[in-house]
Amino acid sequence: METDVLIIGAGPAGLNSAYEIASNGVQTVIVDESFFPGGQLKQQTQYFNNLPRQFEAQRGITLAETLANRLHSLPVTMLHKHTMIGVYKDGSIGVSNGESTFPIKAKKVIVTTGAAEETCLFPGWTLPGVMTVGAAQILMNRERVLPGKNAIILGCNSFSQEVAQQLKDCGVNILGIIEKNTSLGRESRERLHSDIPLLLNSYITRAMGRGEVEKVFINHNGSEQEWRADLICIGNGLSPILEPFEILDCSFTNKEKLGGLLPGYDSNFKTENSSVYVAGNAAGITCMGGVLLTAEIAAADVLRHLGVLNREDAARQTTYLWKELLRIETQTDSEVFYARVASIQEFHEKNNIPLPTSFHAILEEC
Ligand SMILES: Cc1cc2nc3c(=O)[nH]c(=O)nc-3n(C[C@H](O)[C@H](O)[C@H](O)COP(=O)(O)OP(=O)(O)OC[C@H]3O[C@@H](n4cnc5c(N)ncnc54)[C@H](O)[C@@H]3O)c2cc1C
Repeated sequence: METDVLIIGAGPAGLNSAYEIASNGVQTVIVDESFFPGGQLKQQTQYFNNLPRQFEAQRGITLAETLANRLHSLPVTMLHKHTMIGVYKDGSIGVSNGESTFPIKAKKVIVTTGAAEETCLFPGWTLPGVMTVGAAQILMNRERVLPGKNAIILGCNSFSQEVAQQLKDCGVNILGIIEKNTSLGRESRERLHSDIPLLLNSYITRAMGRGEVEKVFINHNGSEQEWRADLICIGNGLSPILEPFEILDCSFTNKEKLGGLLPGYDSNFKTENSSVYVAGNAAGITCMGGVLLTAEIAAADVLRHLGVLNREDAARQTTYLWKELLRIETQTDSEVFYARVASIQEFHEKNNIPLPTSFHAILEEC
C-alpha cells in the first residue's frame, strides 16, 4: 500500500489527526489493532467538559462516535485488526493482521498508540479480583459485567476517581480509595466525591482468599486493618506506549509529570525521525482536550510539509492550537503543560533547532 499519511492508532488522537488531514483532501490510512475505532474512549462514560472549542461537552463513548463518524465521506482507509509490528529498510511500516504482513509506504507517519496502565505489586496481587481501574471500566461499561460487589480502589487520581464513581453508579459498594500520599493536590481534592471514603497515608500489605480476593490488609497511618472485599482496582497511573518509537528510531526523554519515558519531539510534535510525529497520550499523559489538540498540532505540520498549508497559515494555526493547549492543560493540570514545554525546549536545544517565533509567543504567555 502507498499513502500520503499513515496513522498508527485509531483512538481520539488518531481519529482527530485523520480528520484534520483528510478534510484537506490528503489520502490517509489508519491502522488499529482492535476491532473498532475510538481506542480507550469506547468505555469512558464520564462527561468531558474541557474540550477544544469545536466540540461540545459529551460523554467519552459519544465522542468516540463523533470522531469516527466525521471520517465517513473523507479519503480515509481504516484497517482494523491490523498491528504495526516493524519497519522495512526503505522506511515502509510493517503491518500485520495475524495472517499476512505487508508494507505501507507513507510520506508522513503519525503515531498515536496511547498509554498503558501501570500496576502495583503486593502479596496476593495475582488473585482473581485484582485488576487495573481500566480493566474494571472495560468489564463494566463495554462488556456489561460487574467486576465485584465490594471494592477497594488503590491510588487517588482523576482516572481512578472517575472509575470509582462509575462503579458506585452501577451499585458496587466502594469501601474506600487507598492513597499512599499524606495529602492530595487541589485538583484531586476538588474532584473527590464526599460519599467515597479516602484513606491517606495508606497502602495494601496483602490480599488473601481461596481462588479469589476475600480479605485485604491495609496499612493505614502505620497500623494494619483487615477489610472484606472481592475487588481491588489498581489506579497507579498511565505511561506512554513506547515500542513503535523504538522501532522507528526515535529518541526518548524522561518526564515524570508526562508519565515517565516518552519520545522526544519538537514544538510541532515531530520526533527525531523527521517523517514521524507523535500525538495523544503517547506524547505524554494528558486530559482529553490535550489528546485532541496535540493531534491537531501534528496534523498542521504534516499538512505544511506536504505543501497543503503554506508556512504563514500553518504558523497561524499552530499558534492558535498552542494557546488552546495552554488554556485546556493548565485548567486540568498545569504541571503537565509545563513539563511538556520543558521537554520541547530540551529537544530543540539538543538537536540545535531554533524554537519557532510562534512558540516564543506561547512561552511569553506561560
Ligand atoms: C483501559 C484504559 C482505560 C482508560 N480510561 C480512562 C479514563 O477513564 N479517563 C481518562 O482520563 N483516561 C483514561 N485512559 C487513558 C487513555 O489513554 C485516554 O483516555 C485516551 O483514550 C488517549 O487517547 P489516545 O488516542 O492517545 O490513545 P488510545 O485511546 O489508547 O488509542 C490508541 C489506539 O492505538 C492502538 N494501537 C496501539 N498500539 C498499536 C499498534 N502497534 N498497531 C496498531 N494499533 C495500535 C490501540 O488499539 C488504540 O485503539 C484509559 C486508558 C486505558 C488503557
